Amino acid sequence: MNWITKWKKIGIKVKQIFKRQPVGQEATDWKNCPQCKKISYKPDLFNNSYICECSFHFDLPPKLRLDSLFDSNYEIIESPDNIDPDPLSFEVKEGARPGYKYLDKIKKYQKITGQKTALNCAIGNISNLSAVVVCFNPKFGAGRFGPAENEHFLKAANLAVQKKVDIWITIYQSSGIDVHTGVTGLAGMTKSIIAMNEIKKNKIPTFCVAARATAGGTYASSFFMHDFIIVESKCVENLLFSGKRVTANILKGTDQIPDDFGTAAGIMKSGLADITLESRKELKDTITKLANIILKKENLKSKNLEEVHENPEGFRKTTSTTS
Ligand SMILES: [Zn+2]
Repeated sequence: MNWITKWKKIGIKVKQIFKRQPVGQEATDWKNCPQCKKISYKPDLFNNSYICECSFHFDLPPKLRLDSLFDSNYEIIESPDNIDPDPLSFEVKEGARPGYKYLDKIKKYQKITGQKTALNCAIGNISNLSAVVVCFNPKFGAGRFGPAENEHFLKAANLAVQKKVDIWITIYQSSGIDVHTGVTGLAGMTKSIIAMNEIKKNKIPTFCVAARATAGGTYASSFFMHDFIIVESKCVENLLFSGKRVTANILKGTDQIPDDFGTAAGIMKSGLADITLESRKELKDTITKLANIILKKENLKSKNLEEVHENPEGFRKTTSTTS
């Protein structure tokens, strides 16, 4: 071992020691706003749905999100057992991080969040409408979507169909498909699309809520399968398949990347989302209103069809006089 390698190894060890220290903001009762730079007291933010005075939306912990959406009690949909979250047993044997095992990282995420997967799934009532809500937790590896998350998503979808719930909501905050899990992880794109199709076949209105960054395979699969795409606030950004630099490289010399690329304003302008809310406090009301409109329409449609079956002559008369 020459002196350069020796110093490199010492450097890595020092870095690891610093990494083990508690992350500043998490260890204190104060949060620094990246938009207005104001320091806010966490209990005050809690009372204001984790929104700063300047309207910047901090990440809302999944449990608080579920508490704020559901009317009262809700039931957590546990992740299926015996799903290997690390099918490739990913390990780095040489280089800067020898002995690095991906499974250890997943275990760390599980310890931090108290969850088995990056998803929080629950069933309950929202404004008296029965609902299944799937919520990504960004603290679980930036909301990565791996094999265990695939199966958890499918379990929630199956339950929604089986119970014939009124609405389905997915709250996205995801870095995409977990690249450490290879093809098994990538299959999540297809599986989640199939699950969404099944929900739609059962005429359950679906709502996608973009809470923060959503990218990669998650953005390119189930995200756009929902009936409504709601951007939670104007400060949402990084709604994109790949980052600005990568996209600019692909489009080199052919197109200019707009300044609002991947932002709430940008995706509204390009027609990729339906609504951008002023604040997440409007979320429950907006979903309830939209769901009631759709569900009434569906009821009306089926009622009309029933009338046609019962009295086809009468229906013909009505249609001929009105046309
Ligand atoms: Zn602020």
